[in-house]
Amino acid sequence: MREGGCTGEVCPRCVGHHLEAVRDAMASGRRIEFVLPAFPTKSPNPAKVLGPLPDLAEELALRFLNSLCERIGAIYPPGAAILICSDGRVFNDLLGVSDENVTGYVRALDDMITRMGATHLEQFTLDKVYRGAGHTDMRTMLSTGHAPEIEELREEVRAGGAPLAMYRGITRFMLEDLSGPHYTGTRSALQRECRRLAYRVIQRSRAWGDLLGQLFPAAIRLSIHPQPCGTEKIGILLADTPDAWLTPWHSVAVESGGRFTLMKRADAERAGAEPVHVAGRPSHYVLAPDAARPAPAPHEPGHRPRA
Ligand SMILES: [Zn+2]
Repeated sequence: MREGGCTGEVCPRCVGHHLEAVRDAMASGRRIEFVLPAFPTKSPNPAKVLGPLPDLAEELALRFLNSLCERIGAIYPPGAAILICSDGRVFNDLLGVSDENVTGYVRALDDMITRMGATHLEQFTLDKVYRGAGHTDMRTMLSTGHAPEIEELREEVRAGGAPLAMYRGITRFMLEDLSGPHYTGTRSALQRECRRLAYRVIQRSRAWGDLLGQLFPAAIRLSIHPQPCGTEKIGILLADTPDAWLTPWHSVAVESGGRFTLMKRADAERAGAEPVHVAGRPSHYVLAPDAARPAPAPHEPGHRPRA
């Protein structure tokens, strides 16, 4: 977490939960294995992303994760590996994303990992757990076997702290993703719906996490969400971005002055960024360095008309 806790420092409590798993692996000379539930599917909102397939935003994140394993390998020769537990199939029906788009995203991500030669990364999906089952049945089996009750989650969120931050973050993303031009209802109805859906997304994520814990008990758990000190997951930031909640699948990669950041597509375009195509497909944006600060959205306070 960027505020409070152990920002920039690592205290004994931070590492307490994970030290044993690392020591166990090292004692038997095994490679250190991480599990990262992430890379679900692109946001369905065209104001945030370039399309349904992974692009340079994902590629940069994968490069970072692979290089992290290489850095571990430099000081511990058996090395490390990250199992990317792509969770699109777990909750795409709640996000209004088709199963076909999830399949396309997963395949393209696999191709990307192969093409990059990212030998420390591998992808794992719900399809590999319930082989041959229908997609809806997979989600039902996962929920039946592993999901907590919604009321249990409500209590955690009411108690504040990290669960409340998570709930707010997910509600915010759902509002952005579902308030596209196709939505015709009122804002308050959409907010109610997103709060309801956020609980269901958290419920499915927990179910997925529980299943992964059973399947990979020796692995160290990573999370793309900011984590407070002393939790069972290590929070990991996939890209250099001012908003710790912004992920490659909710944004576009923007290169400016030789550095990359993530921005929502509409923000990048508003700031004057130009799209770049690679092999005939949209890949990322380039922004002149003097325009690098994201312009606020028109409805946000502090908006100034561009000259
Ligand atoms: Zn700490």
